[in-house]
Amino acid sequence: MKRMRGVELMAFAAVLAVAVAIAFNGSGYAVQVLTSTAIFIVLACGWNIISGLTGYVSFGQVAFFGLGAYLAAGLIVNLHVPWYAAAALAGLGAAVVAAPLGAIMLRLQGIFFALGMFGLARIGQIAATSMGATGGAMGESVPTTGNALETTLTILGLACGAVLLTHLLMGSRLGLQLMAVRDDEAAAKGAGVHADAVKVAAFCISGCLAGLAGALYVWNIAYVDPTSAFNGTIELQTILMVLVGGIGSTWGPVIGAILISLLGQVLWARFPMQEQIILGAITILVVIVAPGGLVSIVNRFGWLQRRPVWSPPPAPGVPPGTRPPLGAAFGKGRNARLRGEHLRKQFGGVVAVGDVNLTTEEGSILAIIGPNGAGKSTLFDLLSGFARPTEGKVYFGDRELTGIKPHIVARSGIARTFQTSRVFPSLTVWETVLLASSSLNRSRRVAAAETARILSQVGLLDQWASLPERLSPGQQRLLEIARALALHPRVLLLDEAMAGMTPQEIGRVHAVLAEVVRQGCSIVAIEHVLPAIAPLASRVQVLDFGKTIAEGPPALVFRDPDVVEAYLGVGEQAAVDAGI
Ligand code: ADP
Ligand code: MG
Repeated sequence: MKRMRGVELMAFAAVLAVAVAIAFNGSGYAVQVLTSTAIFIVLACGWNIISGLTGYVSFGQVAFFGLGAYLAAGLIVNLHVPWYAAAALAGLGAAVVAAPLGAIMLRLQGIFFALGMFGLARIGQIAATSMGATGGAMGESVPTTGNALETTLTILGLACGAVLLTHLLMGSRLGLQLMAVRDDEAAAKGAGVHADAVKVAAFCISGCLAGLAGALYVWNIAYVDPTSAFNGTIELQTILMVLVGGIGSTWGPVIGAILISLLGQVLWARFPMQEQIILGAITILVVIVAPGGLVSIVNRFGWLQRRPVWSPPPAPGVPPGTRPPLGAAFGKGRNARLRGEHLRKQFGGVVAVGDVNLTTEEGSILAIIGPNGAGKSTLFDLLSGFARPTEGKVYFGDRELTGIKPHIVARSGIARTFQTSRVFPSLTVWETVLLASSSLNRSRRVAAAETARILSQVGLLDQWASLPERLSPGQQRLLEIARALALHPRVLLLDEAMAGMTPQEIGRVHAVLAEVVRQGCSIVAIEHVLPAIAPLASRVQVLDFGKTIAEGPPALVFRDPDVVEAYLGVGEQAAVDAGI
């Protein structure tokens, strides 16, 4: 692994050395190709952060590119600000503008976000043309430093900076949170991630890089005009570069920018009329053969692989004095009963939950059973902030939780799992649990130690570097339980967590649950396979058609004729068969 990193670093140094040599000794043409490639690297890194890491594909990053170009040009022409300051302010200005825009635009999903961004770029272009700023439609020349070598080296340095930024981001907690949001936003929220905030942060970083690239573009050509500053072709080329290189990776944008730039030059010289067609065809081919781009091909041989965030795991066993109490964010010792009072949830004409009361007891397990469609999962959504009750209230201790966002509920000590498996396909076992552990704002050392401890508790520490696809279905469910436990819950909501597990895995879960219950955590478990939970539960609550039809100790409830009728439908023999 280390040797591979060394080789990768040497390859990067070699490419950089060639670039510097061209800057010093290359022809005017070679220097121009170098400079524009470096600017594309900055732009591609920015696009990769919002579209690759966060999963919000944008067709309008050029809006920030144009904004940066105009900010820099305006500052230089009108206020005679020095170039370096103007470029920095252009990047900063784009980031500042991106914050409110992101808060609005990121509410859009998929193609609507992409088109919204496209519209934004058009608005930028129209504004620059009609406002008559810096030359209006005709554009205006912008004085440069006059030193071509200095310009080239600065742009090259900033391109390296953009790559370094991507590298650092992908190894950071923010990067981990972004990848989790990209993979499964609901699951990320359930792990305590403030999805809206991290998306806006990514949008700002991405906008900042695009704004900086715009300023560098003006610096390079000493001219600004609306058509080239908000140029759709630049957008398209950037997207092609990232797709060909490898979306969502550190090196993809760099490799793509260099290859597409060089190829574009060759094609333009040889086949000027067909250049765009050939480039387009090559991109389609690469994306079909390797959807993850060229990086995904070399990944297969162990090269340029992403290193798991904050890895490797320390030996399990938490350093003394660092282990936070259960429900750390909520405060140990306080009343930690979760109560749902008169909860009702209606979807149009369907009453999924109608007037349900529920109370947890510290240090005990409450089993919720009921036929399919009884409203069990909806009840969990109401308790964990994923859905707002139509009527009724949720309390956690003395605090009302009704309408509180799910990531806050998760951080305050109520963790949940989901009925359908919601693992993050591109996060390793280690990262999945670390995500939840680090969302309690613990230090890196404590979060890592906790993650190692929980993984060893559920028996997945050996698999720490695996992606979920390498785990059995039962292990994936265990991983989801581990992710919930990493939030140090005082209340754990398990929605059919043991479905699809082998008897050994169920045994492992029982041991883990018994341990957390001993520590005072209360558990609410929806289960379909009754033997999976019946031996552990001290109380059972039965739902049918959104109403509680029975509750009490298991022995009593399971003998209730209404329960046998509603839940099993066919009488007492079925109850015996089901093992209750
Ligand atoms: P259970 O978990 O007990 O099987 P659910 O809580 O998933 O039941 O569903 C209860 C009822 O609410 C079902 O009739 C289901 O179709 C309906 N329902 C659940 N979620 C939604 C939704 N988002 N929109 C409309 N109906 C829903
Ligand atoms: Mg359900």
